Amino acid sequence: MNDLDSELLEGLFMKQGFNAGSLEEADVAVLVTCCVRETAENRALGRVSRLKKWKEERPGRYIILAGCLAQKESEKLRKNYPYIDYIVGPGNIFDLPVLLKEQEQKTILVDKLNERHKGPIITYRRSSFRASVNITYGCENYCAYCIVPYVRGKLVNRPVDDILQEVQALIRKGVKEITLLGQNVNAYWYKGWKFPDLLKTVARIEGLERVRFVTSHPKDFTDDIIKVMAEEPSVCESLHLPLQSGSNKILQRMGRRYTFEKYQSIVTRIRQYIPDIALSSDFITGFPGEDEEDFEKTRWALESIRYDTAFLFLYNPRPMTRAASLSGQLPYEVKQQRLARLIEIQQQISLQINRQTIGETVSVLVTHPSPRYEEQVVGRTRSDKNVVFEGTPNLIGKLVRVKIREAYPSTLIGVKCANEKVFP
Ligand code: SF4
Repeated sequence: MNDLDSELLEGLFMKQGFNAGSLEEADVAVLVTCCVRETAENRALGRVSRLKKWKEERPGRYIILAGCLAQKESEKLRKNYPYIDYIVGPGNIFDLPVLLKEQEQKTILVDKLNERHKGPIITYRRSSFRASVNITYGCENYCAYCIVPYVRGKLVNRPVDDILQEVQALIRKGVKEITLLGQNVNAYWYKGWKFPDLLKTVARIEGLERVRFVTSHPKDFTDDIIKVMAEEPSVCESLHLPLQSGSNKILQRMGRRYTFEKYQSIVTRIRQYIPDIALSSDFITGFPGEDEEDFEKTRWALESIRYDTAFLFLYNPRPMTRAASLSGQLPYEVKQQRLARLIEIQQQISLQINRQTIGETVSVLVTHPSPRYEEQVVGRTRSDKNVVFEGTPNLIGKLVRVKIREAYPSTLIGVKCANEKVFP
C-alpha cells in the first residue's frame, strides 16, 4: 500500500516538473510512512530526526511526511519535529505536489480520508511491466489489533471505470502483470459490481498476462471468486488469505468474523478447483488471552494447511485499537518464543513445498538483476515465488521459461530453457 502511494506521489511530482533523485541532490524529501506496526513507526521517526541535519545543510530544502503516521500523529509531529514542512495524510497525497509548487507554508492536511476515490488516474509506474492498482481505500472491519481503519479511513470503493481505464492505460504502456490492491479486496462493491465481476473483467483485458489481488479477507471470500480464479487463465495461481490464528476463541477476540472451520472449507474448495494454488497467510502470535492451547491450535493450523509462505508477527499493541486494552496481555518473551516456533515450522514447510518444484518448467517474469551475482537475474513465478537464474539484464520485463534445479525456503534456482521464445 505504501509502496504504491510512493509510486503515485512520484508520478504526481513528475507531472509538476519535479524529478526523482538521490537525497544528497534533492531539494524535497518525502517520507511515506506506515504506523500499522510499531517498528515501522519508530523507523520512520528515526529517519525524520536524521533529516533535520539534511535540511540545515542547504536553505530552501523541504521535508514532507506523508502516509498513515502523518494521519495518526499530525499535532504531535508538528510539535516535536517543527522542521517538517508538510504533514499529509493518506487521503490528501494527491494535493501535495500542487501545494508544494505553490509554495504554501507549513501545511497539515489530514482530513479528507474518505475522498481518495476522487484522485486522478496515474499511469506513471517505476516498473514498466508490473503495477499495482488501487480498487479500494481504507477499511471498516475494525479487527481488534488493527490501526488501519483509524488512519486510512472507512472503506471507499473506487469507480469501476477509473480502475479499468487505469489498467488499460498501464497495459498500453507495456505492463504485463497487475495487482489489484485494497485492505480487503473481496468486499469491493461499486454500483452492483462485486469483486468477482471486477476480477473477471480485468482478467479479460487484452494484452494482460497476469493478474493478482491482495489482500483477501476470509469472511468475504466467496465461491464466485474461486470460479473466476479457476476459469480465467490470466489470474495467477496464488492467494494470500490471512488466517491470523488457528483458535476460534482468539479469532473471536480479534473480531475477525470467521471460524477456523470456515477458513478450512475455503482452502479445501480452492485446492479442489485450483490444485496448484500457492497459498500464503498472516499469523499473529501472543494476541491478548492466547494460552498454550490456543497457540497449539495455530501451530496445528500452520502444519495442516501447509502454506507456501506465511508472514509471521508477534502481537504488538497499537494505540486506538480495542486489543490494546484487552485483558491477558502476554510478556514479550512468550510472544517471541511462540513466534520462533512458528518460523521454524514454516521454514521447513516452505522448503518441502519448494523442493517439489525441482524439475518443473515454470513461467517467470524477470524483475531485476541479482543483487549478488552480475550474471544472474531474478523473477517471479505465477505462484509468486522468487526465481534466480543465469541471464542478462535485457531479459528484465520479459516472460521466460525456467527449469527449476534447486529450492530453498524463499527462493528457487533455475536454468533458462534453451531456444525458448522470449515474450517481449
Ligand atoms: S481487515 Fe485488515 S485492514 Fe481491515 S481492520 Fe482487519 S486487519 Fe485491518
